[in-house]
Amino acid sequence: DKLGIAIIGLGEYASDELATALKKTKECYLAGIVTDEPSKAKKWKKYFNIPDTNIYDYKNFDRIKDNADIDIIYIVLPNSLHREYAVRAAKAGKHVICEKPMAITVKDCDKMLTAFDKSGTMLSIGYRLHFEPHHIKVMELGQKKYYGNIKRLIAKNGIPEIDGWRLDKELSGGGALMDVGVYCVQAVRYTTGMEPVSVTAKEGKKTSKKKFKEIEESISWQMEMPGGLIAECECSYTKEMSLLRAEAESDWFELSPAFTYSGIKGKTSSGKMNLRNINQQVAQMDDFANAIKNNKPTPVDGETGKQDVKILQAIYKAVKTGKRVIIK
Ligand code: NAD
Repeated sequence: DKLGIAIIGLGEYASDELATALKKTKECYLAGIVTDEPSKAKKWKKYFNIPDTNIYDYKNFDRIKDNADIDIIYIVLPNSLHREYAVRAAKAGKHVICEKPMAITVKDCDKMLTAFDKSGTMLSIGYRLHFEPHHIKVMELGQKKYYGNIKRLIAKNGIPEIDGWRLDKELSGGGALMDVGVYCVQAVRYTTGMEPVSVTAKEGKKTSKKKFKEIEESISWQMEMPGGLIAECECSYTKEMSLLRAEAESDWFELSPAFTYSGIKGKTSSGKMNLRNINQQVAQMDDFANAIKNNKPTPVDGETGKQDVKILQAIYKAVKTGKRVIIK
């Protein structure tokens, strides 16, 4: 049987990517929605044939605990709201997929982890690339040291044309780093299979002081890994970038573009990676549904989400102090 998902936060990502994916998932389906906007409810209800009893708003959301159709709540809200809704979903006895970044502070992540400890339900983070063939290949090449130790590692992610809540620090928790930089942090961790010892970082110049009043537009940072490798990272809200490149002892491998929803291309020094581009969100949601059904852990669990937030916070501290920040 397919598990039922209810989405909360019917914005761009939910409409443009998750809706399409949820027409293709094999292990789960869209069973419900949470929204305050009648026009959105109408559209989604029609497209997915959702019964009225499975449509909630932000206030009556907690009643979802009595709805047996809903197994999983998918949180696709602005970052600072993740914690509240994840905790409420856990209290309702539901499993959760929470979009990245898990939350805006480590303290919030801890509150979420405690809630899921108590509920006994599962929490996963929306790290779609964990299930993507090129990224799986990179994990294998890097972690198994296929070409020897990595000597140089570069991860860059930038998307231009940002607006809305992403510019509002209270809702976003920060700028480009929280939103797109988190992919680089993840990539460095899964390419090496190691945790950074320390970070150094520098904020880039702002192209518009008005637009980027509350948040950073770009940051370049370094992650010092055990053994001495220094991963070089960069994120931006104005410069388009999407690269993951590793130079190992005997060969190099890279993805370019690396972090997009589709069209990822992989190369090694001996040629093209002949891998398919898949629907990443389908793979991500089906993997989580399977993990729940088979009572197995998810590779993108709350602990990994929290570790990323911890590293993001260390990078902000390094920006602020101008000093190397050790990650404890
Ligand atoms: P969006 O602005 O398009 O959608 C946000 C939704 O939250 C809207 O439906 C809005 O109505 C709702 N909302 C509820 N309370 C709100 C409030 N106080 N202020 C603003 N909106 C409010 O944003 P999005 O791009 O869909 O991003 C949502 C989440 O998904 C973010 O956490 C983001 O990081 C994540 N995301 C992940 C990916 C990915 O590839 N995994 C891609 C895009 C976004």
